[in-house]
Amino acid sequence: MAKNVLLPNHLICEPRAFGRLRASEIYAEAAERRIALLSGAGPTYEIGERLIEELKLKPSQINRLVCPDNSLQTIDRLEAEAQSHFTEMIIGVGGGKALDAAKVVGARLNVPVMLVPTALSGDAICSPVGSVRVSPDKSISIAGTMPWAVVIDLEVAAGSPVRLWSAGIGDLLSNKTALADWKLAHRAAREKIDTFACLIADHAIEAFIHAADHGNESKEALLRVTAESLIMSGMAMAIAGSSRPCSGSEHLISHALDAYCGGKALHGEQVAIGLLIAEWLQGNRDSGSSMRPYLVRFGLPTHYEELGYSKEEMILAIRKAPTLRNRYTVLNETELTADHIGRVLDAVFTTPR
Ligand SMILES: [Zn+2]
Repeated sequence: MAKNVLLPNHLICEPRAFGRLRASEIYAEAAERRIALLSGAGPTYEIGERLIEELKLKPSQINRLVCPDNSLQTIDRLEAEAQSHFTEMIIGVGGGKALDAAKVVGARLNVPVMLVPTALSGDAICSPVGSVRVSPDKSISIAGTMPWAVVIDLEVAAGSPVRLWSAGIGDLLSNKTALADWKLAHRAAREKIDTFACLIADHAIEAFIHAADHGNESKEALLRVTAESLIMSGMAMAIAGSSRPCSGSEHLISHALDAYCGGKALHGEQVAIGLLIAEWLQGNRDSGSSMRPYLVRFGLPTHYEELGYSKEEMILAIRKAPTLRNRYTVLNETELTADHIGRVLDAVFTTPR
């Protein structure tokens, strides 16, 4: 039997995308609906106002909701507020948390969701997976709604802090180790693999690397390929029905840093550190194929101390990482004693900061 996969109906990813909205089908479909627009309270609130103006939405149809975080309490509150206004569509405007909340609230209310990422900070910009903080120290990925429309204005993304873009590149590069882990799990007869999802996730990262190595190296061109590759990663997750093609041991390490060591850095930055450990454990120790040069080039950390973590915290996180999700990775085939992990860390991060 062939598989049904939900993909966005509308995808606009270009400079000045907002200016194209009125001529798009999105305009007609949003015009008569009661809409809950989720954003942050700062710059993304203003971007939300621009969007309302571009879509010529009437004040009476808009319920503006501020999403300060992606905690379960916040999502419950947003859901109740959206429900009390008989919401027929959710629009999420922001860098990450508002997008996560929009997907989850949209799934709960069974209404279409439009995502308007204001920064390219991760692969949540076009995926059916939402990250929800269920306790002060723990976030989980849960199934949300695949967005009905995704609008990425690359001029808006270019105006976001460069650190967010770097984090998005870290999240994208991690497809490499995530795919290697998935193949490892398949070889160990622990998990089914979806070849098509692997293909899409692999092409996403290869397209970015190719552009970075051989293409036009202008900021605009690299922003575009970052956005497109993150979108492709989201498609791979939709095909797989889980975050598996884009989330392996490097993500487990990042989740453990959040859960046990205070989550001191951005998701994509922590994933980048996890990536260096994962690729080494996976046997990829050749400087010619390591992702390290891309971390350096795109301003990502290459040592955990840059993110404020100690060696002891890293050892704790790596030991705890496999317990955070039922996902077979190279960590399941690694001796997780403090001594051994300490030696791995010394080998991967040879130069202390
Ligand atoms: Zn991620």
